[in-house]
Amino acid sequence: MFRRRLAWALPIDVPISAIMPVTVDALLPLSLLESVRGADTPEDAEAEYVHELRNKRLGLSDTVYAEIQRYTEDAKKNRRVGNEKAVAIATLIGRRPDADMVFRSAGTRLARQMYLSVSAPRRAFLRFLPSFISRPLALGAGRRVAKRYLNGSLSRVGGYVMLAVPESATAGTGPRGVGCTFYEACFGELLRSLVDGGGAIEHVRCTDRNEGSCEWRAEWR
Ligand SMILES: [Zn+2]
Repeated sequence: MFRRRLAWALPIDVPISAIMPVTVDALLPLSLLESVRGADTPEDAEAEYVHELRNKRLGLSDTVYAEIQRYTEDAKKNRRVGNEKAVAIATLIGRRPDADMVFRSAGTRLARQMYLSVSAPRRAFLRFLPSFISRPLALGAGRRVAKRYLNGSLSRVGGYVMLAVPESATAGTGPRGVGCTFYEACFGELLRSLVDGGGAIEHVRCTDRNEGSCEWRAEWR
């Protein structure tokens, strides 16, 4: 609506992001930071060296600790934060050799939070109702959480469900599209939670390949 009005007021079709800064739910950067901390937390055998490791591992640093506190507070109060903050964290992750694992684990974490934001009675309905009733309800719930937490849109196209993210926080932050695995893992986990299923996920369009937005496709069976 807003985009259309702007297009009317201005001679060209200006994307909203060019005028208004994009914001994300605080849980998005929080999931990235918690995943970094999880990856950098030592196994029991190393525990006695934690103090030394704090200077060497990003996830154990005071900065990451403070940021986690801040975004936890923001998330509790439903405050959104600038997308550029999430991009900055994703850029640090993209440089790590374990980037793929950290992004995937962050996506899974976020999906679990998204699922828990669906009310408990609704989650119970989705689980126990026959699938011809629960599927459309699951799609509706998925649509709402994808919009709120991923700035994404979920839609059904034939036998597939599509996730489109025009303003990705992680695309282009690491080599070989590794940042996009964050949304891929999130999408997969969300479908598993909502409908106890969902097939293989394909990344069909990518901003890294100059295709306008990032889009994923999963079988909807
Ligand atoms: Zn992508």
